[in-house]
Amino acid sequence: MSKAHRGSGVRDQYRNGRGTCPKCKRTGVKVLYEATLEGAKTKVCKPCNANLKKQASA
Ligand SMILES: [Zn+2]
Repeated sequence: MSKAHRGSGVRDQYRNGRGTCPKCKRTGVKVLYEATLEGAKTKVCKPCNANLKKQASA
């Protein structure tokens, strides 16, 4: 199950997985990454997901 975030994997999602990221408030980004924000599971964009992972491992 590779490429879950690109190609046909996102085509069946709402607006191809694009929307507004709840963390950085950018619009039109792919919001495909499940992260835990303030105790709640939320979908965030790719850079936010990377930042959250960095914070978690630090
Ligand atoms: Zn974001």
